[in-house]
Amino acid sequence: MTRPIDVLHLGRDRVICAYEIDGVIVDPGPASSVDTLIDRLGPVEPRVLLLTHIHLDHAGATGVLCKRYPKLKVYVHEVGAPHLIDPSKLLKSAGRLYGDDMWELWGEVRPVPEDRITALSGGETVEGFRVAYTPGHASHHVSYLHEATGDAYVGDAAGVRIPPYAWTVAPTPPPEIDVEAWLDSLHTLACWNPQTLGLTHFGQVTQVTDHLHRMRMALVEQAERARHKDEETFIARMEQELFKATDPATVESFEQAAPPNQLYMGLERYWRKKAE
Ligand SMILES: [Zn+2]
Repeated sequence: MTRPIDVLHLGRDRVICAYEIDGVIVDPGPASSVDTLIDRLGPVEPRVLLLTHIHLDHAGATGVLCKRYPKLKVYVHEVGAPHLIDPSKLLKSAGRLYGDDMWELWGEVRPVPEDRITALSGGETVEGFRVAYTPGHASHHVSYLHEATGDAYVGDAAGVRIPPYAWTVAPTPPPEIDVEAWLDSLHTLACWNPQTLGLTHFGQVTQVTDHLHRMRMALVEQAERARHKDEETFIARMEQELFKATDPATVESFEQAAPPNQLYMGLERYWRKKAE
């Protein structure tokens, strides 16, 4: 049984979704919302964290949870592992994006003891989950397929979609966006032929083929727009589309999960690096 848990990031619903599957948690979310996670877990004591990547909105609570649960095991891609053990570089990078809002947004980021971590490279099976390397959003992003149910847990690899709407946005913040690698990762996910896609932002998608198609289109469209338009136009167009496709409260959830100015910055950087 999978349980999607809305951790109510900054008190807002439909921003960050953690998943619990028989004591396994996929992406616990940030430390700032860890009390809600623990509260909603109820009597369940988590034994394993499967991290899709180390960004603070997905994995920020890892250190705090390791302290609270002394037997908790953590799985993460090998490139991400050192930054859980010593989060200083991760915090510096996030600080450039979030500035003075760091503490309010993400809370306490504790280092993770090395002996709790199992580093992944993709291709292995752990705790009943197949692991695939799915870069594009981050160079160390992995996705998980629960073999018993066919449910996939894909972090940010399959985009941002806030129910009840199908409208999909590609989360493209700096500094590691790679559009080609991301399109390959979407192919990798499609080849799993999963029953559902568990998005961090937000919830499980059952129309898998349609969703992956929408995500591919969103990624290509956003990339093209960032290449040819300026930041102001990029943001205005995205907001127009969001308001047209959803409702004002949902736009708030979208913009908290994936701030449009950051989506522009990540793609602008991608094109600049590519030209160099
Ligand atoms: Zn995210």
